[in-house]
Amino acid sequence: MKALVFNGPRDIRFETYPDPSLKTENSVILNVERCSICGSDLHMYHGDNLGTASYSDGVKPFCVGHEFAGEIVEVGKQVHRFKVGDKVLASGGAPCGECSYCLSGHAQLCSGWTAFGLSTGLNGGQAEYVNVPMADLTLQPIPEGISAEQSILLTDAMCTAYFGLTRTGLLPGEAVAVVGLGPIGLIGVELAFILGASEVFAIDPVANRRSHAAGLGATALDPAQALPMIMDKTKGAGVPRVFEASGAKAAVELAIKIAGRGSTASFIGLPQPDVQLPMLKVLFKDITIRAGVASVIDQWPHLIPLLQHGRLKAEGLFSHTMDLSEGAEAYRLFDAREDNVVKIMMNV
Ligand SMILES: [Zn+2]
Ligand SMILES: [Zn+2]
Repeated sequence: MKALVFNGPRDIRFETYPDPSLKTENSVILNVERCSICGSDLHMYHGDNLGTASYSDGVKPFCVGHEFAGEIVEVGKQVHRFKVGDKVLASGGAPCGECSYCLSGHAQLCSGWTAFGLSTGLNGGQAEYVNVPMADLTLQPIPEGISAEQSILLTDAMCTAYFGLTRTGLLPGEAVAVVGLGPIGLIGVELAFILGASEVFAIDPVANRRSHAAGLGATALDPAQALPMIMDKTKGAGVPRVFEASGAKAAVELAIKIAGRGSTASFIGLPQPDVQLPMLKVLFKDITIRAGVASVIDQWPHLIPLLQHGRLKAEGLFSHTMDLSEGAEAYRLFDAREDNVVKIMMNV
């Protein structure tokens, strides 16, 4: 098959890769129809370390990508929910299915949880075919009435946005700040209004991302003016709920600066290597810190009905559509933030 293959930092190639075969009896083989690049893929692209995984040198080539949807072409004997021909979207990764967390319904805490597309351990879905383990758990039939774009956003970005935003504890009538307006932050802005936020401060250095947020009704702010503007608007109190959706050093620092006394700040961006929490400020302002990786499958029951009833739209986030064969250029452009890129859809 053809796939986007990691050959080293900034060296992703569209090339021939061995076809996947069913790895376990609870696996399916998916013929991928569309996929997308995630901001978190850029850590691997840059050759940074991710947890214990290092991408700087000597990595065995693997297929990249954890955001994908397609049609099932083969099912293992232990798969009960799906059959050949079903159209499905995937959940970004798979738990081990055997540890105490998995068996008690807390698969998001599984230490054996593995994301697609970060090693040969679980080859990714920016490929013509991909093996998906634990299929009954990790796949979702494509819900009726949702768009191709929404189906890809349900594989990660939308779920991470909902997870991160709800962990601020936002209540109707409260103000919330969203720091970092990539696709996750922008969906977070839309969800904040759905959940009853009175005012959403949306902060990003990129002008077109701010105008997207303003179009959703947010008070869009450049990071340079965010602190004085928010302090002025809140009469010096700061914001009670802060959702940090970037992981950049400046964004994390700003999130703590604009957080009010007794506030909750929720972090989902993969932190850049040099990011540190200013603990003294956290302590004196009594800020509750939440940080974690979303359990994608647990967010679907909340998001799918919102999409199907037209409450949540998440429109206009795919700024570019390309072919999988153009994947190397897609990574380059996405990494360079050229051409006002927000998110790239790749057709397979
Ligand atoms: Zn992602
Ligand atoms: Zn487990």
